[in-house]
Amino acid sequence: MRRAFLLAFVVALAAMPLLPVPEFWITQANYIGLYTLVVIGLVLLTGIAGLTSFGQAAFVGLGAYTAAFLTLKYGMSPWLTVWFGLAFTAVAALILGWITLRMSGHYLPLATIAWGLSLFYLLGNIDALGKYDGLLGIPAIRFFGIELNTGRSFYYLLWIIVVLAAIGVTRLLDSRTGRALRAVKGGATMAEAMGIDTYRTKVTAFVIAALLASVSGWLFAHFQRTVNPSPFGLKMGIEYLFMAVLGGVGHVWGALVGAGVVKILEDQLQVWLPKLLGGSGNYEVIVFGIVLVLVLQYARDGIWAFVEARLPRRDRAVDWADAPALPERARPPHGEVVLDVKAVRKEFGGLVAVNDVSFSVRAGEILGLIGPNGAGKSTTFNLVTGVLPATRGEVRLMGERIEGLTSRAIARRGVSRTFQHVKMIPAMTVLENVALGAHLRGARGVAAAMLRVDRAEERRLFKEAEKQLRRIGMEASMHELAGNLALGPQRLMEIARALCADPTLLLLDEPAAGLRLKEKQALAATLRQLRGEGLSILLVEHDMDLVMGLVDRVVVMEFGTRLIEGTPEEVQASPAVRAAYLGTEH
Ligand code: ADP
Ligand code: MG
Repeated sequence: MRRAFLLAFVVALAAMPLLPVPEFWITQANYIGLYTLVVIGLVLLTGIAGLTSFGQAAFVGLGAYTAAFLTLKYGMSPWLTVWFGLAFTAVAALILGWITLRMSGHYLPLATIAWGLSLFYLLGNIDALGKYDGLLGIPAIRFFGIELNTGRSFYYLLWIIVVLAAIGVTRLLDSRTGRALRAVKGGATMAEAMGIDTYRTKVTAFVIAALLASVSGWLFAHFQRTVNPSPFGLKMGIEYLFMAVLGGVGHVWGALVGAGVVKILEDQLQVWLPKLLGGSGNYEVIVFGIVLVLVLQYARDGIWAFVEARLPRRDRAVDWADAPALPERARPPHGEVVLDVKAVRKEFGGLVAVNDVSFSVRAGEILGLIGPNGAGKSTTFNLVTGVLPATRGEVRLMGERIEGLTSRAIARRGVSRTFQHVKMIPAMTVLENVALGAHLRGARGVAAAMLRVDRAEERRLFKEAEKQLRRIGMEASMHELAGNLALGPQRLMEIARALCADPTLLLLDEPAAGLRLKEKQALAATLRQLRGEGLSILLVEHDMDLVMGLVDRVVVMEFGTRLIEGTPEEVQASPAVRAAYLGTEH
């Protein structure tokens, strides 16, 4: 069905210039194609990775001016200049991304505004680039001896590139890197805990978006045959973002819809509004502003979301049955100390959340960490997994110190975890969410995804994901969107995701919260089985029945301090523990 739509679209696209369509509409279509390229980049950057940029027009400008300057000044072939443009843009995007993407929040949008403005004034003040008049007389692109100097001939080159870009980005989204890109939007903590380098992933999205804009600029220069700074200023940067939001910022095909609607609407409004309102002015800007507010208010996901909701959802074909299993980590011998926490401390200002706590976990053992709310259990987890830096103390994994490492580096060494408050990507299927856990067991990147040569690895990752879902009894829900699950299954899904990393040490933060009795029993059985396989588990849990019947030893915390450590029987018999729990627990 989807393929049929795509095919119909491509056929209609290919047929349009052959029909007696007025030149005006061919020109419109060409502009829409040029814009779509830029907006596809924005979908990736803003919709998928959650990074807002007002500066894409500046990257279009870089591509356009590089093409114009090199062809006019040095007589270079456009087929050569495009590579210069891409290289130049990549360098600019890397530098800009390197500086701004480390900062959080609103720095990136602000930086892109600054960048958009400054490039505009820079272009307008360089003599060699013709200042605000720009460069004229850019030659047309020649393609196998054919000069693409008409709207109709240019159309084909342009739209082939647009369709390839759309397919490439669609493929990218359905890949290991694509899942990483989606994961960074929800915040770095979960993604990093799965071993994803979120900074690098953001830079990747930023550079790809810039490169798409640059190609659009290259095409633009040879289509218009002249460049000047005005199409590359901030106003256009905002307009690109508007197209992305209107079309549907999370969808590749939304880019096309957004670009199409805005371009056509703009032209019609420029004709009709002055007639209606009298005089001349940029009235369409006002209309766009109002439309943007309405879209953000009532249709946040843009126009494409309406189409998407009506298209049949196609489950991922289960094509991994024969895929070879992923290699597994060597497990430490039973009884060996896996995790050794020594006098670890965490202060938040004056509050001592974890007060010189020590404990160790051995291979093939489940250690329970219990204590009233606010005792410091989750904070201890965050210290062990590198989410928070310890104020002092030592954490050793298999004898090596890890307390200074990033959570990504710790994940790589075999520590995987779940979160007290489920962290997942609601718009991805359960299977894809779980596959995220196997990120470090794959290696394929952007190019492999776009060329679809990553499928063998993908099959192995999905096979692993399915295996772990089966383990927790959730294989029936693998094609569901994670966001549609109830809380209990969401928690189980997180466990499957953590297991996908093939960890040596598994940390579970209140895994049974929100689970029904049957689910709890199944969970306990799974954890026992994992222990039998030699996995070490650190378990924070409020459900005493579950904890006491399951764990080998218990550490009780209160007000950040370790109260007692012992077997479940010893702990249950302790008067101090009873005192700590009275009134605060069941
Ligand atoms: P538990 O998981 O045992 O319920 P937490 O580890 O979440 O407890 O919290 C321990 C204490 O540290 C609580 O008093 C909590 O308010 C405080 N705390 C946790 N995280 C932070 C933070 N990021 N900043 C300041 N205080 C925090
Ligand atoms: Mg907690």
